[in-house]
Amino acid sequence: MSANKKMLVLAGDGIGPETMAQVMRVVDWFDKRRAVRFDVIERKVGGAAYDAYGTPLTDETLADALAADAVLFGAVGGPKWDDLPFEVRPERGLLRLRKEMDLYANLRPAIVFPAMAEASSLKQELVEGLDMMIVRELTGGIYFGEPRGIETLPDGSRRGINTQVYTTPEIRRVARVAFELARKRGGKVCSVEKSNVMESGQLWREEVQKLGAEEYPDIELKHMYADNCAMQLVREPKQFDVIVTDNLFGDLLSDCAAMLTGSLGMLPSASLGDIDDNGFRRGLYEPVHGSAPDIAGKDMANPLATLLSFAMLLRYSFDLGEDADLIELAVKNVLAGGMRTADIMQPRKARVSTSVMGDSLLMELDKQGA
Ligand code: NAD
Repeated sequence: MSANKKMLVLAGDGIGPETMAQVMRVVDWFDKRRAVRFDVIERKVGGAAYDAYGTPLTDETLADALAADAVLFGAVGGPKWDDLPFEVRPERGLLRLRKEMDLYANLRPAIVFPAMAEASSLKQELVEGLDMMIVRELTGGIYFGEPRGIETLPDGSRRGINTQVYTTPEIRRVARVAFELARKRGGKVCSVEKSNVMESGQLWREEVQKLGAEEYPDIELKHMYADNCAMQLVREPKQFDVIVTDNLFGDLLSDCAAMLTGSLGMLPSASLGDIDDNGFRRGLYEPVHGSAPDIAGKDMANPLATLLSFAMLLRYSFDLGEDADLIELAVKNVLAGGMRTADIMQPRKARVSTSVMGDSLLMELDKQGA
């Protein structure tokens, strides 16, 4: 039997604890029914941690995150904490975690489950069966580059400055994540930049090309300008397998790809760091959505994004692809059976609460057996 996996669970605020409660039922199911065993530590984060300790992320919780095999995160924030000083706002807890764990590769899958194809803003045939992954560089580029700031010029007018900057190692490490993913998926990488007008884009293209030729000759590598990529995402999204791009373009393109799938309540994500000498890679897994204060406490939230984030955790941090497949199949079957939380409700389907969605998922997992 494999050693226990240490998982830190940070449910957070708003709907975070509600969706996480359903995921914890599934974690429990896996613990009892599959080969994997979990040591789960639960801690407060965000507004909940501020209320309890005066900070959105305590040093102890950060230490737990650094010691864990993986972190599963819910959501943070809400109107109760909106007027707090910047440094103790709930979101700072998440940003500090990402920074201290050095999570530089953000994975955003865009998957359209067959039963949800009609919920997309695109024609059904364009998105049916869509399964692509955007890998966004998360710790470099224009959001962090120096110099930055707003300065006043001698004539009294002002100038705002941000700097797009990337180094060879920053480009190669995120590109490597994309190539490795492609090897386990459809074998294709599309690298996206604006090398026609930006030197940093030119370097990006050259480095990705070089890495591909040196280490991943089995992967089909294509390069695309970011503006064309935005167009292609809504014209023919199924042409893509793995897209790798910088922080800024990834921010925009991953939101665009997200809308192809229909609902915020269905979208998981992963943020990964470097592999250390023992072959261990840090990872934090979280739904794309926030704490949804408008529906918090009403047993209405869709738990699927958090559940699918747990499936990504099993796949990418624990190398338990078959267990991740089980969850994704359960989600597919529950949706095919007509179950819908309010956010993804469609005509002639059954509208269910967060907890009933959890019940249905467990019944489905039981059907698939262990
Ligand atoms: P949001 O994602 O929380 O909600 C946007 C809309 O989508 C709301 O109408 C909400 O009801 C709905 N929604 C979101 N997730 C849902 C789910 N699982 N099931 C059903 N409906 C869902 O974004 P927002 O309203 O802009 O932000 C609310 C709070 O969340 C803010 O405090 C914001 O700072 C915070 N936030 C946190 C994160 C995070 O923790 N990573 C991300 C985004 C926003």
